[in-house]
Amino acid sequence: MEVSENLRVLMNDPQLLPELKDIAEKVLHHQRISFDEGVLLYEKAELGYLGVLANYIREQKHGDKTYFNRNFHIEPTNLCVYDCKFCSYSRLLKQRSDGWEYTMEEMLDIVKKYDDQPVTEVHIVGGVLPQYDVPFYSELFTRIKQHRPDLHVKALTPVEYHYIFKKAKIDYATGMKMMKDAGLESIPGGGAEIFHPEVRDLIAKDKCTGDQWLDIHEEWHKLGMRSNATMLYGHIEKYWHRVDHMERLRQLQDRTGGFQTFIPLKFRNQDNQMSNVPESTVIEDLRNYAIARIYLDNFDHIKAYWAMISRTTAQLSLNFGVDDIDGTLDDTTKIYSMAGAEEQTPAMSTQELVELIKNIGRHPIERDTLYNVVTDYKDHLFEETAKPNYYKLPVIN
Ligand code: SF4
Repeated sequence: MEVSENLRVLMNDPQLLPELKDIAEKVLHHQRISFDEGVLLYEKAELGYLGVLANYIREQKHGDKTYFNRNFHIEPTNLCVYDCKFCSYSRLLKQRSDGWEYTMEEMLDIVKKYDDQPVTEVHIVGGVLPQYDVPFYSELFTRIKQHRPDLHVKALTPVEYHYIFKKAKIDYATGMKMMKDAGLESIPGGGAEIFHPEVRDLIAKDKCTGDQWLDIHEEWHKLGMRSNATMLYGHIEKYWHRVDHMERLRQLQDRTGGFQTFIPLKFRNQDNQMSNVPESTVIEDLRNYAIARIYLDNFDHIKAYWAMISRTTAQLSLNFGVDDIDGTLDDTTKIYSMAGAEEQTPAMSTQELVELIKNIGRHPIERDTLYNVVTDYKDHLFEETAKPNYYKLPVIN
């Protein structure tokens, strides 16, 4: 059955609330939904309904194509001057002796470890410490690009940029231009959490505000550059805070068109100051992906970090609006595992990622950071079956 046919069947359901039917009509006709309709989806819409709408949009935009990349992370430090309540890197939880603080040479050694591997991206993000300042990161980006010009440098969030620019007494526009000149090519989506101060002040008080986060991305986009955006959900926020967060992103995207991907990040409650807050269910995670896909009509991609939500939920998410499941990672990130993610040593071979996508009938595409196709795996056969081979799921099509 055609995906749009699914949508028509759903709209003919006599039990469907009229206001949900109106939203389905809008989706079918490629119209934007309002703030209130976004909240209504969170409050009233069931998973099956959301999946039909989100999958319709996903397949209109990308068909079965499902993206991943080959990347590795560098986390300069797991110590931080800030004290975000949801974070297992925060200063209250860590003694300096428990942590690592990589030097420039140590970070360059990590890059060199990948010299003979076909990775396309280094993703650099971690805690905030005073020694990592504008001169340090400028030199780091420059030396990475000198060593390996084809490696895309995706690095730091507005949390770090706000801190280092303030220390250097330079404005955001000047600072982002300096970073671009040093070799920075895109900025990841982190540090966004929940923009609304009612929530942000309780969970991430001291670091950059929501407006500052958005201003830094806007300056970056004005340079003709691309970035991503995240939302940390499933803790103390209300549904309308999530919609407010996405609304601010949608408005900035209307102005600049610089965002590529929206990445909902599930709050995890291990080893942080919010361990008493229960985590969201998988059903809620899937609903959230789907609503993001429906709300953010001007974002090309919705991404699920497989390392954060587990491989099986990542597979499921591909039917709820997600078209990208991130990268091979090569066990180079501790951010997810320290917060309690299922994957404690996250790494997947390209073959495993491809088969994970193919096993649910989607079309795997290895992309670079800017979504250029590196390899189309639709008809590609590997010499051996990947081990372990992931299970087929009873996925709704
Ligand atoms: S979330 Fe980021 S800014 Fe906040 S404590 Fe953790 S590493 Fe620092």
